[in-house]
Amino acid sequence: MSPRRIAIIGLGRMGWHMAAHLAKAGHVVSACDVVPGVAEKWVDENGGSAFTDAAAAVVGCDIVVTSLPADRELFAVADAILPVLGNGSLWVDHSTTSAEGARVVHARAAERNVAFLDAPVSGGVDGARNGTLTVMAGGDREAFDRAESVMSSYAARITLMGDSGAGQITKMTNQICVVGLCQALAEGLDFAESAGLDVSKVIHVMLQGSSASWQMANRAEKMLAGEYNYGFSTTLMRKDVGLVLDEAKSMNVPLPVTTMVGEMLAEVSRMGGDAWDWCSLMERQRHSH
Ligand code: NAD
Repeated sequence: MSPRRIAIIGLGRMGWHMAAHLAKAGHVVSACDVVPGVAEKWVDENGGSAFTDAAAAVVGCDIVVTSLPADRELFAVADAILPVLGNGSLWVDHSTTSAEGARVVHARAAERNVAFLDAPVSGGVDGARNGTLTVMAGGDREAFDRAESVMSSYAARITLMGDSGAGQITKMTNQICVVGLCQALAEGLDFAESAGLDVSKVIHVMLQGSSASWQMANRAEKMLAGEYNYGFSTTLMRKDVGLVLDEAKSMNVPLPVTTMVGEMLAEVSRMGGDAWDWCSLMERQRHSH
C-alpha cells in the first residue's frame, strides 16, 4: 500500500505498537491519546504528530484506526470524529466492544458515508509488538478489502467474519474458549506445586502433550513466579466476560464455566489485581487454600 496519512486513536498497551508498525510501514501517523503526554511520547519515538483531541487528530486523514477500552470510549470517539471525517473515509476499530455497540457505530458512520469495521484482535501485547495479531472483522466486504493492507502492518491473520458485529461475536467466542482454560491451568499448576513436584518440569512435559495451549506456553512460568505486571488486564477481561454473558443471555445460551470464572476474576479485582494480567487467576487459586 502506498503511504497514507492515518490517524490512530488510543495508544494503550495495544494501540501503541499498532501505531508503531504503521509508522514503520511508511505511513504518516496522527497519534492520539486522551491522556496528556502519551501521544507526545509516542511521536518522540516514532515521528508523526501528537494529539489529545480525536477530532483534531483525524483532520486530513481518510483512514482512522482505533484501539479503545470499551463501548463508552468508542461512542465518545464516534461523537467526536464522525462530524469531521470526510466522505468515503474508512474507520477500523480494534477495540473489543459489544456487537450491538459496533452495529450502532456502523450505522451512524454509514449515514455520513464512512465505512466502519469492527475488527477486534487476539494475540495480546506480544502479538501487537511483533506485528502478528489475529484480526476478526465484521462489516462490508469493500471496507474490508480497503482495510486489509493497513492491518497487514501489524496482523498476521485477518479474516472477514460477516456483517457488522460479526468480528465482536467471534472475539467473544475466543474469550469463552480461553477463560476456563486459564483457570484450569491455574488449578493444575497449584495442584502440582502442592504435591511438591518441580512444576517447570511439569510444564515442559505438558507442552508436548494434549493439554498444551497458548496460555501454557506464554503464561505458565509467569503464573508460577507470581508475575502479573504486563499483558491483558483483569479489568479488561472482566469487561469481555460481561460482554459475553450479556450476549449469551440474549441468545439463551448457558455458559456455566465462563460465568464461574467471571466471579473468580471479580475476586482477583478485590485482591487489588485490576491492572494485573488476568492469568493472576493463579494468585486467587493459591490463596483459596
Ligand atoms: P489500554 O487501556 O491500555 O488502552 C486504551 C487507550 O485508549 C488508553 O491509552 C486510553 O487513554 C485511550 N483512550 C481512552 N479513551 C480515549 C479517547 N476518548 N480518545 C483517545 N484515547 C482514548 O487498553 P489495551 O490493553 O491497549 O486494549 C485496547 C483494546 O484492545 C481493548 O478493547 C481490549 O479489550 C482489546 N484487547 C487487548 C488485549 C491486550 O492484551 N491488552 C488483547 C486483545 C484485545
